[in-house]
Amino acid sequence: MKYKIVENSPFARIARLVLKSSNVAMVLGKTIHLSGVKRDGFLKDRGWVAHELCHIRQFQEHGYLRFLWLYLRESMRVGYWNNKYEVEARIAGLKGERDMLIAEKADSSINPTELPIPADVKKEV
Ligand SMILES: [Zn+2]
Repeated sequence: MKYKIVENSPFARIARLVLKSSNVAMVLGKTIHLSGVKRDGFLKDRGWVAHELCHIRQFQEHGYLRFLWLYLRESMRVGYWNNKYEVEARIAGLKGERDMLIAEKADSSINPTELPIPADVKKEV
């Protein structure tokens, strides 16, 4: 899958400030916007990468603006945690995680944020 990574993204930075989170990965179209985490650190976390790649696929499947709308509508209907696009990404993330060492698994849980866009934070242990 073709995708781009932007470090120190102003978009992700705003999300991070709003969420008071130490790290955010946010997907817009084919680009993963990072703040509080470097490209290398992000790529090392296979579960997280698989999760965000799933959002990129969702953008491609539904179309840019349409997916943002569908994501927002789904969030308003069932909440962020049960948002089917997040559920799908979470499952993809777990599959990606299988390749990780057990020791790394412990701190690899990724949480969707309460933003109306596909943004996720990595839970610190
Ligand atoms: Zn997500």
